Amino acid sequence: MGLIPLATLWTILRVISKPMTKKITLKDLSNEPGCLAEYDPNAMKIESAKKLIHSFINPIKATESIKLIDSLNRVLADNLVSPINVPNYDNSAMDGFAYKSNPKDNSKIFKITSTVLAGNISKSSLKNGEAIKIMTGGKIPEGADSVIPIELTTLSGNNITLNELPKTGANIRKAGEDIQKGNIALKKGTYLRPAEIGLIASVGIEKVKVYKEIKVAFFSTGDEVVRLGTAIKSGQVYDSNHHTISAMLQRLGINCIDLGIIPDNKELIKKTLIKSAKTADAIITSGGVSVGQADYMKEVLGELGNVLFWKLSIKPGKPMAYGKIKSASYFGLPGNPVAAMVTFYQLVQPALKYLKGELNYLPPPTIKVKCSVNINKKPGRLEFQRGVLSRGKDGLSVKPTSSQGSAILSSMTEANCFIVLDLESGSIKKGDEVKIQLMNGLI
Ligand code: AMP
Ligand code: MG
Repeated sequence: MGLIPLATLWTILRVISKPMTKKITLKDLSNEPGCLAEYDPNAMKIESAKKLIHSFINPIKATESIKLIDSLNRVLADNLVSPINVPNYDNSAMDGFAYKSNPKDNSKIFKITSTVLAGNISKSSLKNGEAIKIMTGGKIPEGADSVIPIELTTLSGNNITLNELPKTGANIRKAGEDIQKGNIALKKGTYLRPAEIGLIASVGIEKVKVYKEIKVAFFSTGDEVVRLGTAIKSGQVYDSNHHTISAMLQRLGINCIDLGIIPDNKELIKKTLIKSAKTADAIITSGGVSVGQADYMKEVLGELGNVLFWKLSIKPGKPMAYGKIKSASYFGLPGNPVAAMVTFYQLVQPALKYLKGELNYLPPPTIKVKCSVNINKKPGRLEFQRGVLSRGKDGLSVKPTSSQGSAILSSMTEANCFIVLDLESGSIKKGDEVKIQLMNGLI
């Protein structure tokens, strides 16, 4: 039996002597990766990576009060308590007739006494045998307890006959049925989509307290990468990552601070990182996190902050870095355009949502559908293949896009879903069920 190397022994001793309750910091982990059992820099599982990132992020605290009309994609910084009942009066859900039901007398003929439109209130109260014509949203007149839709009545002169007897209380929307006065209508940490904005408007609130916008800086790295507007030479690529990343950020309601393209030059990369850490809450870079000769991020970040580098056991998107430079979160994405997008959606997006103050963000779930072709896969990595979901005569089925290379951006434009193939999974046979994640909602 060989001797255990001193460094390994030291790590084992540190791990077993560490009290279970002590929270492992990013610094601990970047100095000594072995201090966390599930941290495997060479085959990091996406779930562990997500959990780790989450545990090191401090959501933004600063708040501001803004107009509701400007609040799309922002996050509520306080519980929102409704000052009123919604609806604030009992009203009709249908165009029809309001009447008082009488279980003892199943009489179906009622005399029409007046009409109530939405917004005008009936002054007369109803007596037995009387009905008031009422439009959707009209306030239920005093004495009425049910509404019958026009279509279920027969009119003759000033009388209606009910073609059937609805249940007592039918077609009445009760006051407070949607939201009750004094109740929490929306919780702190809610992401404001059009529906939430409409709901806030429905309780009459014009200004909302939200978390301040987070500032996210981005730069691309690579001597070969050039900006749009420059004639491209052989050996160069246009900076598509800048555009996909700022567009993905815009979808999250985040304006990207554009720091341009930084060549593969250690000093320049370092300077840019120091500069961005001063103003940004998060810094994203693309390229240079792999093990190539010009991949300097690891070296530079080792000097600047606490940064973890790992090879994620996902495909595409193997090399990735996460850490902190001062108080800014740092995400080092791979340079390959598809890998950069996949790692953004799967890891950076949930992290930024949490940083924005959003609680309970859940990415779109995976659903199972039939695969219409064979797919070759080796166990060992979780794959996010780009897929095309379509509807045929036998229902929904999915197949991968024609090319799956991590540099083939057209695989992303062709796709409408990711085919999510589990880490342990091997090849898929035509007709097998596979998990898919719809890009709609994710993207
Ligand atoms: P890297 O991760 O730096 O080794 O780059 C991997 C691949 O992605 C190389 O083929 C790069 O040319 C390409 N790449 C890197 N950055 C970008 C970018 N900003 N836009 C498009 N392609 C890029
Ligand atoms: Mg590079």
